[in-house]
Amino acid sequence: MKCPHCGAETKDTSKTCKACGQNVTGPSLWMPSWRWHLKALGTIYVVLVITFFVLKRLLAPYVRSLPPEVTPWLQHPQTPVEQASSVPHESPKR
Ligand SMILES: [Zn+2]
Repeated sequence: MKCPHCGAETKDTSKTCKACGQNVTGPSLWMPSWRWHLKALGTIYVVLVITFFVLKRLLAPYVRSLPPEVTPWLQHPQTPVEQASSVPHESPKR
């Protein structure tokens, strides 16, 4: 680690510089700006989105589709909604 005051090489464990005696445990030397954060987070986000679509494309033959009975709230064009809602269910009222 380099001393931020005089530039002399100091041990990573030492709290003061041997050359100038200044405190070297101050604020970190590299304070990334919001631009850097935006760039880094944007890059990570874009990579994740691209990875998602690439994996979706690559794994498409291995993904099985859910049977329509599992998702009755979706309007399946093959099976009408009345069929799904005709399943008898008891009402708690008396
Ligand atoms: Zn120093």
